[in-house]
Amino acid sequence: MECIFCKIVRGESIAEVLYENEHAISILDINPIHFGHALVFPKQHSETFLSVPEEELPDVMKATHIVSKAIVNAFQPEGFNIFSNNGRAAGQSVFHFHLHITPRYVEDDIKFILKLKQYGRGEMNDYANRLRQHIKPNSTHNH
Ligand SMILES: [Zn+2]
Repeated sequence: MECIFCKIVRGESIAEVLYENEHAISILDINPIHFGHALVFPKQHSETFLSVPEEELPDVMKATHIVSKAIVNAFQPEGFNIFSNNGRAAGQSVFHFHLHITPRYVEDDIKFILKLKQYGRGEMNDYANRLRQHIKPNSTHNH
């Protein structure tokens, strides 16, 4: 298996490591949107967000919080994005789940081009109901 992020975790590929804890690691992205653009990912291989074991999630979020704060303190950007691409259709290119943290600037001319839709009458409730059927009251205890 030639997963680049797994190789970085094993020390077989070099990276600028920013932070690590028991389950997560953060490195600089080698192809940054802006300089200082970082990645955070679980040390164990998981292809997408949905396959990350629940017990690893707090370390991933903690790492994301710590590195976001460092980006803001170090570069004083005007904002920052945290995002993750899951699946080819969403733009995922490395199939080891990761979060991006990138500084943003007002005049940086980076835009997600979004065409916003409008729900028809009753449709919003229908979509919410369809989702609720898949969210059980004690969903944090289901595996
Ligand atoms: Zn991997």
